[in-house]
This record gives sequence, structure tokens and C-alpha cells, in this order.
Amino acid sequence: MPQADRIITNAKVLTMEPDAPRAEAVAMAGERILAVGSTAEIEALAGPGTDRIDAQGGTVLPGFIESHLHLFIGGAELMNLQLDNLADPDRMRDLIRDFAAAHPDRPLITCQAPDYGVFGDRAPKALLDEILPDRPLALVGHDHHTVWANTAALDAAGVLYGRETAPGHEVVMGEDGLATGALYEPEAYAPVLALGGQARMMEGLNTGGEPDPAPTAAEREEDLAHMKRGLDHVARHGITSIVNMDGNLYTLELLDELRRRGELNVRVRVPFHFVPDMDESELSRAEEMTARWNDEWLASGFVKFFMDGVIDSRTAFVHNDYPGQPGFRSTGRFEAERFAALATKIDAMGLQIAVHSIGDAATTRVLDGFEAARRANGDSGIRHRIEHLELVAPGDFARLGPLGITASIQPPHAPGCAGLPLEPTLTNIGRDRWEDAFAWQRLADNGAHIALASDWPVSPVSILLGLESATTRAAWTDGVPDQRFTLEAALRGYTIGGAYAEHTEAIKGSLAPGKLADIVILDGDIEATAPTALSEMGIRMTICGGRTSYSAT
Ligand SMILES: [Zn+2]
Repeated sequence: MPQADRIITNAKVLTMEPDAPRAEAVAMAGERILAVGSTAEIEALAGPGTDRIDAQGGTVLPGFIESHLHLFIGGAELMNLQLDNLADPDRMRDLIRDFAAAHPDRPLITCQAPDYGVFGDRAPKALLDEILPDRPLALVGHDHHTVWANTAALDAAGVLYGRETAPGHEVVMGEDGLATGALYEPEAYAPVLALGGQARMMEGLNTGGEPDPAPTAAEREEDLAHMKRGLDHVARHGITSIVNMDGNLYTLELLDELRRRGELNVRVRVPFHFVPDMDESELSRAEEMTARWNDEWLASGFVKFFMDGVIDSRTAFVHNDYPGQPGFRSTGRFEAERFAALATKIDAMGLQIAVHSIGDAATTRVLDGFEAARRANGDSGIRHRIEHLELVAPGDFARLGPLGITASIQPPHAPGCAGLPLEPTLTNIGRDRWEDAFAWQRLADNGAHIALASDWPVSPVSILLGLESATTRAAWTDGVPDQRFTLEAALRGYTIGGAYAEHTEAIKGSLAPGKLADIVILDGDIEATAPTALSEMGIRMTICGGRTSYSAT
């Protein structure tokens, strides 16, 4: 056997391999794992030139696979003011005024993640005008489906007197004929965020199109810096592979430029994002992306859709009326027949489909589309995905397994997890449907493949926080079933489950000879750590393709 380039010893290795789940040490050669075994077996592979890593008794795992996030936006937003679900308007005023004073040149003061309830019953712009009357100000909801803006921002963006939008998107208008400051979904808020120079990074989410006009060399450097900041941020959390959930050619071109510069330290998949006003012929761009990027570091191979919005803003498409709003169920962004035709076509093209689907009516429509594809094409084995699945109709659970669906679940999104409030989510779901909501264990029991994720920057990207959410989530009241995952199941969801979802389980997701040397070393023994303390554990080192992508020291 060849000599190891690097070995990790003094470790508690959890391999995620069913036949050999535990080991003491790992050897790497180049980009691959050479061996996994006992200390003696691995020491025998070391020579004078071998780099030795002492894990100091910490847990060693396959590098985490983050199955749903937004890299470009997340990387850019790290520069904004982080409100972290702040609910106190006085504290918010102080923070925003300080931040604005510290950034006199920014055309838009952008803040992330206020508490949804901070505005009370007032028009959001009333509070924001009081905080910052003379400069454009925008607050981006933690879920990124709502933005709140002050009058200066609404005016500068040209939406103060309203704006025509597609169904499900809305510039909320007041009785005075002026926008209230609440902007639901991208078509409503994009003009405001564009004031801050965030148009290019939102393109892959909002339109799926390419930046137009083409970025200047200076703008491109700015975008490369956002992307690199995002990659370093995820590497710091033990992540070695990410699945981006918005995309266009530009996103992959930037990542490829970083690779040429030797700065790509995380493996990335990027979809083609198909939006309702596109013509089917635009799917040729999905084929182009897949033809150009299809290797172990950068790949496409899938098409992203949004079928609906989110529960908190009542833009999720549901089967039953929203409480207190007779007849109102929001709407699906694609008609049933159109989605079925698109799903059938994309499936026949050999591309994977990933659909944002939160409300139960949205998921029924998505499953109908996947079934139509199955009828037309047979079982393609493509492992289509549904993102979020927050509310599922009782009769739809059993359809997931037979269709081979991956349920892409975000543990920190459940009300009560990761510091999230229970409201307005639980009220909007309705008490009689709580048992069908965020029903993680039930999805798994019905044969769905499970991939776990943060949806960063919607939630913090920390996998350890995700593991804590997945394993500690409390039932909201007596009589609602326990939907927590075990630690082992949650770890699978962030490793081999994520690899299965992206068809890479032969090379990733577990520690075995010949697989990619993608590894995370934790700062302690994860199995001996209380579930409520998981998010406080540290990451000691992240290794991607045999090379250190993050080190705490
Ligand atoms: Zn997302």
C-alpha cells in the first residue's frame, strides 16, 4: 500500500459506513482516503513525510454536506447588520443608527433578520422612518420572503405607489394609497434591494437569468469576494459540499474563476432556476450548465422551482383556508398541468428537479407532476427532491417513498427551534393540522430519503446548530407526535443522506478507502455531548479533498 500523505489519529471516527461504523484513525493519499482503521493500522501507513493530525480525542466525521443554501446571497449578507431575530424596537433603533453612521457611503442600509413581530400593528415603514428618516433602509426577513423598507427606500426604488407583480408576490398598499413598507417575495422587494448593489447576487434567485448589463471587471471582483467570503464561512462550519438552491451561469462562472485562482475550498452544485415567465426552451441553459460543469468540485445537473412561498407571510399554498381569512389559500406559482409537463420534460432530459414546496397544496401539485413524469418516462432513477415540505396533506405522505423522493428538511426552520418563535407559524398552520407540519420522522417513516440543511442565510449555516435542532425539537403541545431525529439519523442527513440526494454516495458522505478525503474534526466527543449543547461544540478542522479548508488554530 502507498504511503499516507496525512493521517488523523487519536480520534473517535464515526464513518457512516454500516459495516464498519467506528474507527480510531484515518489515512489520506492525495485527494482520497487511503484507509480507515485502528491506530496501529493507520500508523503503519505513515512515513517521514506524512503530515500527522492529532484529533485529541475529538469526533471525526465525513465532511458535512449542506443540501440547501444560497451561497452568493449569504456571502454578501455577511456584510450587513445582523439583527438575529431582535424583537425590541428600541435596541433595533440604536443598532441601525450606529451601523448607518459607520457606513456613510452605503446607498442602502440593509439589515438581516428582525423578529417578524417587531412592527406590531403599525405600517412597517412608520417604525423604520422614525429610526432612519433620511437614508434608504431595508430589513430582510430571516426567511428572505419578506423585506420591510422605509419611505426613502420605497421612493428611491419606485415602489412607493405600488408595483404590478405576479401572483404570490405583493407590494402591500395602505389605505392612503402608499406602500406600507411590507414587500412580499422577490418581485416586490427586488427593486429595493437593488439599491444596495445586491441585484447581481439576487438574479439566480429572482429571475434565474444572467446579470444584464454584464458586470464590469470591478463588479466581478466584488462578486468574487462575496463568493469567497461565503465559501470560507461554510468551510469554518465543517462543510465540504454544498447544494446551492438558486442559480445561473454567472454563479458557476464566478466559482470556476475562484477554482482557477486556487481558492475553491468547498464542492458546489448549482441549479438552473426555472421561473414561471420562462419559456420551456430556456431549459437549454440547464443543459449548457450541466455540460460545462460536471465534476467533483463544480456541478449542475438540476433544475430548481419555487411552487409557493412561506407560512409566516401566508404565501404558502395550502388546502385549507388560512385561519381568519375565509376562502384564502394563497396560490401555486405553476399551474398543475404546466408543472407536470415541465417535470416530465426535465426528467426525460436526465436532469434532477428540486422544488421549493412548503404548503400542503403545493406539495400535492408537485407530487402530481412527479407522478406524471413517472407515467410518461418510467422510473428514471433521478431522485427528484422536494425542499422544505413544512405542511403535508395526510394522504400525501405515502406517495413520497414510491416516487423515490428526497425530502430536503431544514431542522432550524421548525417553530421553536434555533431561537425561532412559535408564532405566527403555528396560528397560520391551524391547530388541527399541527400533526402534519414539520413532520420529519413521519416523512422518513414513509420512505422519503432525508437530506438536511440550513437554507443559509435563512438560518445560520452551522451544522452543529442543525443537529441540535434536529435532535431536541419539542412537540408544540401534548398530543402532537414527537418528530425529532436521533443523533445518528441526523448525522446521516448531513452526510450520506446528502450524498445520496446528489447521486455522489459512491465518492462522498462516508469515510471509506477510495472515497474523497472530505473530513471534519470536532472539538469533542459528539456522542457524549448533551443534545442541547451540540451547537456550542467547536470545529477543530475541515479537510476537503485532502487539503485543510479550515483550521481553528
Ligand atoms: Zn432556499
